[in-house]
Amino acid sequence: MSDTNGTPALSDAVQQLQERGVDLDRLAEAYAGMDEAAVAKSYGALARAGRPSRPYEPPPSDGDFFDIDGLITEEQRQKMAELRRFMETEVEPVINDHWLRDSTPREVLIPGFRKLDLLTPIYGEDLTSREPNGSVMEGLLTMEIARVDVSTATFFGVHSGLAMQSLLVCGSEEQKAEWLPAMRNWDKIGAFGLTEPNVGSAISRGVQTTARREGDEWGLNGQKKWIGNATFADLVVIWARDEADDQVKGFIVRAQENPGYSVEKIRGKVALRAVENGLITLTDCRVPESDRLQNANSFRDVAEVLKLTRAGVAWQAVGCAMGAYERSQRYATTRGQFGKPIASYQLIQDKLVHMLGNVTALQTMCLRLSQLQDEGRMTDAQASLAKVYTAARCRDVVTLARDLHGGNGILLENHVARYFCDTEAIYSYEGTNEINSLIVGREVTGLGAFV
Ligand SMILES: Cc1cc2nc3c(=O)[nH]c(=O)nc-3n(C[C@H](O)[C@H](O)[C@H](O)COP(=O)(O)OP(=O)(O)OC[C@H]3O[C@@H](n4cnc5c(N)ncnc54)[C@H](O)[C@@H]3O)c2cc1C
Repeated sequence: MSDTNGTPALSDAVQQLQERGVDLDRLAEAYAGMDEAAVAKSYGALARAGRPSRPYEPPPSDGDFFDIDGLITEEQRQKMAELRRFMETEVEPVINDHWLRDSTPREVLIPGFRKLDLLTPIYGEDLTSREPNGSVMEGLLTMEIARVDVSTATFFGVHSGLAMQSLLVCGSEEQKAEWLPAMRNWDKIGAFGLTEPNVGSAISRGVQTTARREGDEWGLNGQKKWIGNATFADLVVIWARDEADDQVKGFIVRAQENPGYSVEKIRGKVALRAVENGLITLTDCRVPESDRLQNANSFRDVAEVLKLTRAGVAWQAVGCAMGAYERSQRYATTRGQFGKPIASYQLIQDKLVHMLGNVTALQTMCLRLSQLQDEGRMTDAQASLAKVYTAARCRDVVTLARDLHGGNGILLENHVARYFCDTEAIYSYEGTNEINSLIVGREVTGLGAFV
């Protein structure tokens, strides 16, 4: 083959090919038989083949696709970053062991949360009400905690949501002054006792634990089941029916020093194992009138507390789904099968996109919910819709995450198995899926379908 073009570049290339022993006549013959499209296609293929192949670098794993982080102040962002560091470096390494042993890693969580001062951004310095965007902050902090571990988020929510909120909504000024600063600083740990062995969903109509006033004291009798933190809490808010007027009232039980209070840890759970749930027995448990929540007069007040904390559970689902997605993205981009990362297969990408879509929808839904809560406009039905929807979608996400990890998805060491199990509790507590659906259903139809 001869150099007909005569340009120096082409003649150099021809010479190089000849030196490498390429049969140029054969090459020209092959090209002569091709149509124009095939020739053009071959140029691209040859150019790609000539390029040195770069090693695959997986993109960072980030479940905050719509930059929710961009909506908070720099100071708040720093708080979130500190919390993330704490969760990843202090909690993650120990949580599976605690999960297996049915125990809450209090020795890590209490000093850690105290040092991070997590509750001031929610309740402020004066502890009279929430900070202007305290609910958004509470949601984001909950999400960040649940991103690593839902049991820890539950420990956080029972203390800072259910117990502290009961005091804020129903406590007298003296009661708030006695307990809230110590609770904000994690010096005193709270629990919330409403559910009973025989009454769960129907608790608004069926509290069986009784309270009888005798002089300046009350005697409480009955049982409470599933009570988070109950095995170690300093104060447990117990809801009981006043025998005199049949109304539900709240009592601060100083659990560590009251002989009428006993608790047995519930064993054998397959979800939220690092939450210590207790079966409480109250046997003529004496409570002074000064420890009755002075502004709790009926179940309506309990319902107000539950409404305010329901958003927190929705945010737990967001965090859990976010953690499951991020771990799946990392796993898919590093796990190889058939000579390629599994992330290179379309079916795997479809799963990741499905998960990320859910995570993002849940984040944005909960963000709006918490904004409404901060404005004092959130309704029961809005909180319930968020709880129903986030729990159900979280279930989708953790199922896909478990599946995407193959056999490794059922090993605790890869964490998604824990998310998978823990989601079952999110689905059932703080109002089951059905009960929250019924609350929304009543709102949108004007027809109550509970009974
Ligand atoms: C891990 C965990 C932690 C918890 N922590 C606490 C805590 O700290 N404090 C506390 O007080 N409680 C706590 N709970 C209790 C929780 O709030 C209850 O489990 C929940 O309210 C459901 O009650 P139940 O389990 O008795 O179910 P049930 O009420 O017996 O419900 C069984 C099933 O029947 C359905 N159902 C009931 N009524 C209806 C209806 N009218 N229409 C259609 N379906 C219906 C339910 O949706 C559910 O599917 C916790 C529970 C769990 C699992």
